[in-house]
Amino acid sequence: TKIFRSLRPSISLPPSSQPLSATQFALSLLHSTTTTNFSETPFLINAGNGHRVTYSDFLHQTKSLAFSLQKQYSLSKGDVAFILSHNSLQIPSLYFSLLSLGVVIAPANPDDSISELTHQIQLTRPIIVFATSHTSDKLPPNFRTILIDSPEFSSLLTQFSNTDSIGSDVVVNQSDIAAIIYSSGTTGRNKGVLLSHGNFISRITAYRAIDPFETGIQQRVSLIRRPLFDSYCIVNMMKSATMGGTLVLAETSDFESVLETAHNYNLNYCPVPPSFILAMVKSELTNHDVRSMRFLLTCGAPLGKQVLANFKEKFPNIEVLDAYGLTEGGPVASMRFPDEINQLGSVGRLVEVVEAKIVDPSTGELLSPGQRGELWVRGPTTTKGYIGDEKATAEAIDSEGWLKTGDLCFFDSDGFLFIVDRLKDMIKYDGFQVPPAELEHLLMSNNAIADAAVVPYPDEEAGQIPMAFVVRKPGSTITDAQIMDYIAKQVEPIKKIQRVAFVDSIPKSAAGKILRRELVNRAIFNP
Ligand code: AMP
Repeated sequence: TKIFRSLRPSISLPPSSQPLSATQFALSLLHSTTTTNFSETPFLINAGNGHRVTYSDFLHQTKSLAFSLQKQYSLSKGDVAFILSHNSLQIPSLYFSLLSLGVVIAPANPDDSISELTHQIQLTRPIIVFATSHTSDKLPPNFRTILIDSPEFSSLLTQFSNTDSIGSDVVVNQSDIAAIIYSSGTTGRNKGVLLSHGNFISRITAYRAIDPFETGIQQRVSLIRRPLFDSYCIVNMMKSATMGGTLVLAETSDFESVLETAHNYNLNYCPVPPSFILAMVKSELTNHDVRSMRFLLTCGAPLGKQVLANFKEKFPNIEVLDAYGLTEGGPVASMRFPDEINQLGSVGRLVEVVEAKIVDPSTGELLSPGQRGELWVRGPTTTKGYIGDEKATAEAIDSEGWLKTGDLCFFDSDGFLFIVDRLKDMIKYDGFQVPPAELEHLLMSNNAIADAAVVPYPDEEAGQIPMAFVVRKPGSTITDAQIMDYIAKQVEPIKKIQRVAFVDSIPKSAAGKILRRELVNRAIFNP
């Protein structure tokens, strides 16, 4: 058959018919598999002020809050809670307590515009909103709102000090919806991705099985760079809780502040976007400056092979894990381990429980190793669909449960996955497909270029031609002709870059994805 499966050791999941919430599951792992000293080990640290929440605090707060929300606010199973907050020490307890009650969490990006947030609220119809004094202005009026930075909320976290006797009487099934995650929206209007408790349970398990700290070499101190609104950050937070790890919550996620946080708190595991790896390569830093760091995990956008090779040379003590995932299907569907060095440029093998196939987008034919086509994935981690959008759900997931990722990919004969590009981003030059990511990698290998993005530019003859947006390195005077020539020497004629614009920065989403629509609009309206 042409179905690709994980070649990693198998993992076991609780039977899907067993009633189990993501909270119960995560906390049972925490209690059973770690030697953590709950009253001393910090679960959370605020990078800005150093405030900490130990595991004992967290467990107490979660129980007290769940009890308060159930008794005082009458929240019950199936209700939707909209959450709009920057990183805060209260958020993990809030999620765990809501999930234990079967309340659906719908966390949104606090940096989204009012119109985007209004659209998201219309999609999910929350009965309660958790916001902060900084974010509540963005919400429509007349919502029942709890401010999580208020004294009232603090008292909900602590009012029941003897939580031993409080048990949740709510039965949550693994098939019940746990969260609605707004997908990144780099390609269109936000959609709400439905994730069940079972999705979280399998995601945590599969993702934990590939964690380099699973072997327990030392205390895992990891970073949460972004507010906890995307599925990747949420699963990462929950996974860390199951392992007794420490999470440092960053207030800002720019390069300098991440380095400062790493230094102050001895971070040894940091999920970062590929641009961070590039910035490290191009920085003046040495191994010594980042000596606490053991692992960097990149995911969400392509990481150039050459960038990775340069990184290894400059920082031999830091291992880079290269993962691929998507909100609907992962969030980590495959990962390359540092010792899989021969597969540089690959995003590794599938995680256990995810199966995949490569489908010819025009004929629907299943393809073999080495052949490029659309990646389809299936497994217990896969979403049930989009809230309130049967059409989009039917387009994305077929009757056998296969999720179409929209990514052009291939497997090699050893089961390693390679991402060529997003199908939707492909430039159509005279009927041929030109993957922008390939050209971006080449541009980035030029020492005069700090960052780059390639987008389609309309052309009468060819339909579309590749156009590059380039950020020059400080002091560089490289010209558009030199850039076009540099690329032309390395690619077949149809892939030549035919227009160049110089910019100060490349617009990117919080996850590090290039905001292509914005660049295409810029190219067309300010040529
Ligand atoms: P999101 O659901 O917002 O996380 O976006 C998922 C998409 O990000 C995938 O479908 C890919 O197009 C892209 N992506 C994620 N990880 C990688 C990676 N390691 N390399 C290239 N593209 C990636």
